[in-house]
Amino acid sequence: MAKDMSNTKVPPTTIARLPIYLRCLQDARGRRVDLISSFELAELTGRNAAQLRKDLSYLGEFGTRGVGYEVDELISQISKWLGTSTVRPVAVVGMGRLGQALCNYQGFLDKGFTITRVYDVDPDKVGKSIAGVEIVHIDKIEKVEPGGIGVIATPAAGAQEAAEKLVAAGFNAILNFAPVNIETGPDICVRHVDFASELQIIGFHLAQKEERFPAPCYDDCCD
Ligand code: NAD
Repeated sequence: MAKDMSNTKVPPTTIARLPIYLRCLQDARGRRVDLISSFELAELTGRNAAQLRKDLSYLGEFGTRGVGYEVDELISQISKWLGTSTVRPVAVVGMGRLGQALCNYQGFLDKGFTITRVYDVDPDKVGKSIAGVEIVHIDKIEKVEPGGIGVIATPAAGAQEAAEKLVAAGFNAILNFAPVNIETGPDICVRHVDFASELQIIGFHLAQKEERFPAPCYDDCCD
């Protein structure tokens, strides 16, 4: 039985690794693996075993020395910490190329998310359906479903307005794809996804390797 660690402060770098551990554990379960050692899990995730054990120690006391972790228990604990033990509803604002691609992606359900509502302003799109979900005008946004997350996939110019509409509808968690900062109240969890920035970070590491900048990287951003 895992100890109650619900008040533990988990470092952001550990949180960022939890989805990787979860994915590898789910793969292992798919191969009917019941028990896994920290070395095996570390190898699957491309991490070192000491770091993995430290990361998991923030979540509770799992595993038996010399035996390993119970795959099902670890999946259930990590899912609990990631808030994905039950499927969360997601509302996407902006049904352009990105919004439609997100809606048509089949892999979110396995990760604990399902797109249940989609919004746009374009009269040519409103009323049509994407992946079985009807596009509603953003002015008619419904009250958030329990545990819902809002996603912004509008152009930068529409992102602030989209955020305000989401917050007014009761969303307190927003994932923003638009290349602009959005202002929300202090109690709203906002994350920004930027594919270009990620490529630039890889570019930084490539530049280091190419010895254009010989200074070593002290950061753990490659973790
Ligand atoms: P797009 O122009 O194809 O689609 C944007 C959609 O948003 C359109 O359907 C438009 O009618 C709708 N829209 C505009 N204002 C709105 C508003 N206020 N409320 C609701 N809907 C509104 O754009 P796209 O190529 O799908 O890109 C969408 C956004 O995602 C852009 O901001 C783009 O820069 C960004 N993007 C980010 C990444 C990333 O990695 N973060 C990658 C690709 C695109």
